[in-house]
Amino acid sequence: MVDTSRIEPPACPRCGQTGRPVLIGLPDPEAFRAAEQGLLVLGGCVEEEDSPHWVCGAGHGWRGSDELLWAAISAAVDAG
Ligand SMILES: [Zn+2]
Repeated sequence: MVDTSRIEPPACPRCGQTGRPVLIGLPDPEAFRAAEQGLLVLGGCVEEEDSPHWVCGAGHGWRGSDELLWAAISAAVDAG
């Protein structure tokens, strides 16, 4: 069980900025609102093999653990 109130987004491995989670799939209205607030990034409907899970402000993308990604997405949606 992940405590979504204490998610620490991973830092970009290239520049060190805090990452934002990328939501793959059809976003619901809450996810749209979170994206408008910059809490998450909408990644499109289809996940490709090299789709990033996280992006930073400089546009770098990288992949990480699914568990942390989904926890961060739910936290962002809840906050939005
Ligand atoms: Zn970066």
